[in-house]
Amino acid sequence: MSARSTMRFVDWTMRPETAPEAPTMMHELQCTTCLAASSATEDFETARDWAFGHVGRNPSHQGYRETVTRFWRMTLTD
Ligand SMILES: [Zn+2]
Repeated sequence: MSARSTMRFVDWTMRPETAPEAPTMMHELQCTTCLAASSATEDFETARDWAFGHVGRNPSHQGYRETVTRFWRMTLTD
């Protein structure tokens, strides 16, 4: 007689994080010339202001890369 095993497959659902302490989205801008970066902030305009200040001090630094962070929550579907 052979042993039998039971496997249960569980479905997960992924949704945007809704915890009140979780920001919707975080923005960070990095200069592609010297790699200096703004702080990560919920307010895109804060990161954008940093880029305007940076190009003002360094007129040849004209390329920027944005990193956006979003938070997700996994829950059991069952
Ligand atoms: Zn720079």
